[in-house]
Amino acid sequence: MNKPDGGRMDERADGWLGDIEPAEFRAAAHRVADLAADYLEHVERFSVAPPISPGEVTGRLPPAPPERAEPVATVLDDYLSIIEPNVTHWNHPGFFAYFAVSGSGPGILGETLAAALNVNTMLWHTGPASTELEVLVCDWLRQMLGLPDGFHGHINDTASMSTLLALGAARHRLADLDIRNRGLAGRPEVPPLVVYASEHAHSSADKAALTLGLGLEHVRRLRADDAYRLDPAELVSAIARDRGAGKCPLAVVATAGTTSTTSVDPLPALADICRREGLWMHVDAAYGGAAAICPELRPAFEGLEEADSIVVNPHKWLFTPIDCSVLLVRDPAQLRDAYSVVPAYLETGEAGVTNLMDYGIQLGRRFRALKLWMVIRAFGVEGLRARIRQHCALAREFADWVEADPRFDLVAPVPFSVVCFRARSEYGEDEDDLNRALLRGVNAAGPVFLSSTELSGRFTLRLAVGNIRTEPRHVEQAWHLVQRVCAHLRAERRRQP
Ligand code: PLP
Repeated sequence: MNKPDGGRMDERADGWLGDIEPAEFRAAAHRVADLAADYLEHVERFSVAPPISPGEVTGRLPPAPPERAEPVATVLDDYLSIIEPNVTHWNHPGFFAYFAVSGSGPGILGETLAAALNVNTMLWHTGPASTELEVLVCDWLRQMLGLPDGFHGHINDTASMSTLLALGAARHRLADLDIRNRGLAGRPEVPPLVVYASEHAHSSADKAALTLGLGLEHVRRLRADDAYRLDPAELVSAIARDRGAGKCPLAVVATAGTTSTTSVDPLPALADICRREGLWMHVDAAYGGAAAICPELRPAFEGLEEADSIVVNPHKWLFTPIDCSVLLVRDPAQLRDAYSVVPAYLETGEAGVTNLMDYGIQLGRRFRALKLWMVIRAFGVEGLRARIRQHCALAREFADWVEADPRFDLVAPVPFSVVCFRARSEYGEDEDDLNRALLRGVNAAGPVFLSSTELSGRFTLRLAVGNIRTEPRHVEQAWHLVQRVCAHLRAERRRQP
């Protein structure tokens, strides 16, 4: 509701202050629905990465906050002209970088309703439906992954947080050290605690170790085999070496779907070693876990059921808007023992209920389960499987084109929906330089967006299929663009003396 001078009517007639008027909210909410629907329907009109320079967005916004209320409609106008065009469009079907993700329709609706409810799921008492839905929907995910009864799940913002919580529980399992109460500092009797992971494990394992006070130098990055999987023999020798040096092996972070190549570490062998050595086994299946909902892909995940904890991010490949990361633990009491702190102002005296604040660090918790519930129901498990299969088939097809073209190399197996490839140098030019220029050229063109990694010390391009709106034509377009830009770069280099 606007005043004649253009300001927003932020006072009621009786002078009482409150939220915006219901009528203004309703009108703006309808417009937001249209903005979201228009965006998703026409997202391809944007370059995936906006062609802007750092600071351009800031330059278009007032440096100081408005003293006077502004109509929400004006704010939405600015959203439309300044913000929307200048994001990197992760919801674009040509987004193939990092791990492509999706905010699907049902997920967006769940996110919107969660904001309207604004429930804080710290205790059962402060959010009965949101607590019970979170526990239920995590159990649905457990069943979808083919994991046995007993694993308990809760939702965090990211895999980084889930892995941190898991390693914190592993640290707490060293009961003799009583680190929860006595800490680590000033205790010379506490040996260094060591975490093992492959050289291809995600950096979130390092961040967990540094946050928990274990020290980055106590994360052993072990050599992987030719297919980028952790070598169990390396793990056995590293543990023996560390024990010999008076250190205390704590946990293995195995990866089921590594960030660079989506390789899966040999989980059964790693589980055997963890059991024998008394180590916590955490499996980072942040991306790959989604594939385990397809029975025919599940053999790749054999041994997952032996883990002490597993992280799967529905915000990566289960079409749920960021953020939504599920941590499943074999023994939820270990998480509660590690993290539960109940001050008087949070006591409820209720028995037999789940208080999700006990399972981690954060007290306030968003209602993330709602969007995941809506996604699973709206697509059905069979619908989710079909989409994952489609993405794997598209990646396989792209990999076949790469393999069939003598100017390119496929540089890693393609177990799921990510393809790692390189252009070969033809005129003695530096191959890494050629591939860097290729990535820049492809991404500058606009309709597709790829990312890169380093494999065996060499700059490597990655195409990750994962957006729910990606169709065969987008993958074809990516390949044609790669070929065209590469041909152009080669022609340029040929002309150079
Ligand atoms: N683990 C793996 C295998 C990943 O690829 C990533 C991110 O891509 C992460 C963990 C971290 O995920 P998040 O951003 O949810 O912390």
